[in-house]
Formats: sequence, C-alpha cells, structure tokens
Amino acid sequence: MSAPLSPGSTIGILGGGQLGRMMAMAATQLGYRCIGYAPPGDNVAAQSCADFFENGWGESAALAAFASQCDLVTWEFENVPLAVVDAMPADRLAPSRRALEIAQDRLNEKRFVEELGGKCAPYSRIDSDEDFARAIERVGTPGILKTARDGYDGKGQWRVGSAHEAEGVRFPGRQCIYEGLVAFETEFSVILVRSANGTVKFWDSSANVHEGGMLVHSVLPAGQVVEAQVEEARSIAQKTAEALGYVGVLTLEFFATSNGPVFNEMAPRVHNSGHWTIEGAATSQFENHIRAICGLPLGGTATRFASIDMRNIVGDDALTAHSILAEGGEPHLHLYGKREAREGRKMGHVTRVGAAVA
Ligand code: AMP
Repeated sequence: MSAPLSPGSTIGILGGGQLGRMMAMAATQLGYRCIGYAPPGDNVAAQSCADFFENGWGESAALAAFASQCDLVTWEFENVPLAVVDAMPADRLAPSRRALEIAQDRLNEKRFVEELGGKCAPYSRIDSDEDFARAIERVGTPGILKTARDGYDGKGQWRVGSAHEAEGVRFPGRQCIYEGLVAFETEFSVILVRSANGTVKFWDSSANVHEGGMLVHSVLPAGQVVEAQVEEARSIAQKTAEALGYVGVLTLEFFATSNGPVFNEMAPRVHNSGHWTIEGAATSQFENHIRAICGLPLGGTATRFASIDMRNIVGDDALTAHSILAEGGEPHLHLYGKREAREGRKMGHVTRVGAAVA
C-alpha cells in the first residue's frame, strides 16, 4: 500500500454542493488543502475550499490545470461525467472510476447488486413508448418511471398509479427504468467506509423518511424492522464494496419489506442519511472518507447517543433556521450557505441527540 497522503497535500473535490463543503471541512481539520471543481452555479463547497474552479465539465484546459494541482482527487457528486474523471490522474483517484460508472446508471447498479445476491423491485428497461407499455403489463402498477441517469432527490421520476394513469405518462425520450412500487415498512441506508487495505466499518443504519422522493428525516435507533434486516443489507453492501475495490464511503439504500431488504440504489459517496454522524458517531462519514482515501487509519464508527434525529432544512425554512438554536436539547445546526432558498432545495440540516451512550 502506498504511504498516507502527507499533511499539506492538496485534495481535489469534483462537485460543488454541501457534501463537498462538509468533506472539505473534515479534510482541512486533518491538515489537507482542498480545491474544488464544478460548473458555474451556487457552489457552496467553494466556501470551505482554498481554491475553486468554476468551469464547465467540458473545459479540458481548466480540468488539466485543476488535475495538475491535486495530489488526490475524489468527488462529492455521482453525476460527474466519466470523461472528467478520465482527465484526472488514475493513480490518484478514489473511489475508483468503476464505482462511479456503475452508480451513475440505475440499470447498471441494480444488475450489479443482483449479481451479488441482492434483491430489487421488479424492473424493466425502457427505451421507447412501446417498452413502457410492455413494462406496465410485465411489472404491473403501481410503479415508478425513472430516468436511468442523472436523477436525484425525486427529480426525473413519475409515479404511475394504474394502467389507466400510465396512458397519460409519456416516455421522456431518454433511457428510463420502470419499477414496481415497493410496499415497504420503512427505508434505511447502509453506510460503510472501506480502506485501501480492505478494512470495512459500518455506521449504524438510520430509518429514513422521504417526501416527494427527497430525504427529509433520518432517525436512530431505526427500530426492530430495520435491525432485523440490517445484517443482510450490510452483507450486500460489503460485497458491493469488495467487488468494486472500493476505497472511501459508500452508501446503499434499502426498503425494509416483509420479504427482507430490497435494494433501491447506491451512492458512491458520503450521503445525506449520514449527516448525523458529524455529532452522533465516534468519527463522521466525512472524516472517514478523507481518512480512507488518504491512506490514514479509519476512525471508529460507534454511535455516541441513545437516540439521534436528523432533519433537513428545506427551502424557505432556512430563512428562520437560526431560531432553532433557541430550542432546548442542544440542536446542532448546519446551514450550507446557499444563496437562494428555492422550494424543495436542501439548505441545511439539524441534528438533535439524546442521552450519551454509557
Ligand atoms: P430514488 O431516487 O430511487 O432513491 O427514490 C427516491 C425515493 O422515492 C425513495 O427513497 C423512496 O421513498 C421512493 N421510491 C423510489 N423508488 C421506489 C419504489 N420502487 N417503491 C417505493 N418507493 C420508491
């Protein structure tokens, strides 16, 4: 294994959102310098980076200038074009390109996890209106039509309640997947960190609540249903990480059903449902991602409190979010510094913790 990345080295982060912002904060604490790269926009990661390239993904001169400054490159966003990753030094990239390639495509990731023994909702690939009609027959309704690529936070998704309703849904002209709606008891995620020498650590799984396809709330303990299924889900997540030769933090999302854990999707990165780890775990997902990719020893992942509740602050709620600080129970408020509090936009989060674990 190569030597750990020395203090003062530069970590390049592809993507400019809140995950990059919190990742850069953790890296800075460990003595690294972070620079970021993302297309022009409200790149809040820039506020915690020493330098930030606001350039298009297709600007090869800017990508080369960015890459030349990086001792190591990672990402905070799974829709970074593969061509961008290819413009980075392959021996100084973590996680691997393959992880990004699989996770960028809903069909790829489902097939990948199925081959490792994971269960998925019934699904069909859709390339045309005819495929969609056939999928409605084969998979049935209710279901969800999703773009195979580039969707996030419920974007690029259309719910189909009945065959009659399907007649009003048009194939959007780009590859999609149609999947059966899973009657789940709750949703949960498995977040793990894997080091280059193959050590894997898991954080406790939170129960996750989504609204309109977007995570709004994560809570620990996750309850008996999740606790009964987490072992199986972890085994799938670990096999996934191993098959990808993964280094860093990896997230797999599951539905807890009466038939066991059903895999929904993976994120080859730190995840919103792991924000509670900043205050709630021995080492946060952000710090352990940095430790893993830099070749440093991983920190413990034990949960420090008997109960934890993380809620996203969305849209306009951010404008009055400082009032949360007046509440009892020592809420931990994180605001991401976004300029515009658009409806449905994640602006921050608040983590509330219960009694410390003895
Ligand atoms: P995704 O973008 O695939 O993570 O979907 C976002 C959220 O939509 C999930 O976390 C679920 O709450 C819901 N959802 C997506 N796919 C399904 C499904 N097949 N069955 C039930 N709910 C789903």
